[in-house]
Amino acid sequence: MVTVIQAYRFALDPTAGQHSALRSHCGAQRYAFNWGLARIRVNLDQRAAEKTYDIPEDQLTPPVSWSAYSLRKGWNQGKDEVAPWWAENSKEAYSSGLANLAAALGNWVGSTRGKRRGQGVRFPRFKGRRSGLSCRFTTGAFGLADDRRHVKLPRIGVVRTHESTRKLARHVERGTARIRSATVSFRAGRWFVAFSVEITRADPVPTRPESVVGVDLGVKSLAVLSTGEIIPNPRHLETAQRELRRLQRQAARRTGPDRRTRREPSARWRKTQARITRLHAAITNVRSDGLHTLSTRLVRTHGTVVIEDLNVAGMTRNRRLARHIAGVGMAELRRQIEYKATWAGVHVHVADRWYPSSKTCSACGTVKAKLRLGERVYRCDACGLVLDRDLNAACNLAALVRCEMSSPSCGATVNEPAGNLRKTRAARATGTATGRPAQTSTGQRRRRKATAV
Ligand SMILES: [Zn+2]
Repeated sequence: MVTVIQAYRFALDPTAGQHSALRSHCGAQRYAFNWGLARIRVNLDQRAAEKTYDIPEDQLTPPVSWSAYSLRKGWNQGKDEVAPWWAENSKEAYSSGLANLAAALGNWVGSTRGKRRGQGVRFPRFKGRRSGLSCRFTTGAFGLADDRRHVKLPRIGVVRTHESTRKLARHVERGTARIRSATVSFRAGRWFVAFSVEITRADPVPTRPESVVGVDLGVKSLAVLSTGEIIPNPRHLETAQRELRRLQRQAARRTGPDRRTRREPSARWRKTQARITRLHAAITNVRSDGLHTLSTRLVRTHGTVVIEDLNVAGMTRNRRLARHIAGVGMAELRRQIEYKATWAGVHVHVADRWYPSSKTCSACGTVKAKLRLGERVYRCDACGLVLDRDLNAACNLAALVRCEMSSPSCGATVNEPAGNLRKTRAARATGTATGRPAQTSTGQRRRRKATAV
């Protein structure tokens, strides 16, 4: 039983009236964001200008606070003047925009002061008309309707869902889930609601808790497991490419927008663009389904999953490989394996980025100096092993953890005796030598995972 924060997303089928109400709320969110940003920029510019006149620090225009709380306070004081129509939308819409702004400014400050990991974050920019539509509700009457086919949203009302909300509803009725917030968004021509839920999950333990599986991710086949199983790459993007090209040619024949001459796109061009968007959304959906199926199956079967620390961002910089790698969704698969493993109490070992999983022989441990990407079969010069390249890599990954679990006999992963005579009685009692983890050893394995990640 673990308590986690999880999102449940449902596609919506709003009525025409609800569609415009949703749009209005998202527009209100954007309006409040831009209003707050303008206020802060004016203040920053004013202070910067004053500083050039050598005005001492204590006589400068006082800074405007960036916290979501003070932004909201400022908005409530000025909303009658700047937005006399504010009562048309839920107050949550404006709070949502201001909270987003506070988060964006916080990210920028954290990034410039080096306190934030990842890529550098720029100063927030104004949201234009084309920016994504979204709006978050954190207080008020939102949640599931009793019939399991509708959701309640403040001011917008009861909206029909495209699919049943049964899975979340059961948790809510049982009292194992609490809905914290609801975010509506418009993606690929369709409205969605995502509930952020604090949920107590009871995931089944893996069917083979002692099993260690190495997963080699690739482009030729989506994944090769050390058990010998090959999960083929479904190549959804390549299959759809033909249709995508046809639609893009069709769009090129139609009158698109022109910024220079301010020409508006034609209705026919817009129709083709909508078709392209829908096709991309369909590809995303089938890909995501395949990845979820695989990641769930891995954590439901094996007690330990070993994956590589792939530099996906670096690999997509290779122009020849980029589309194929992006089409697989490797980074997403790793993300899914990692979070699902914590839910099910499965140990995930991430191999070092520089570990030569492909170049090492899985039988004798010899490391080849060079192995071209075109060589699909691994041939060992030392022991004569001939094995599929990816299967060899997957076996090496699995051996990494088996090694750790039975350190004195490193390398001898095949036909290993059930018990190690050299081990002391105490060591055998914890279950490492017999390969049967005792109750205490799961706790130890969890702790090891925490230090490894
Ligand atoms: Zn060998």
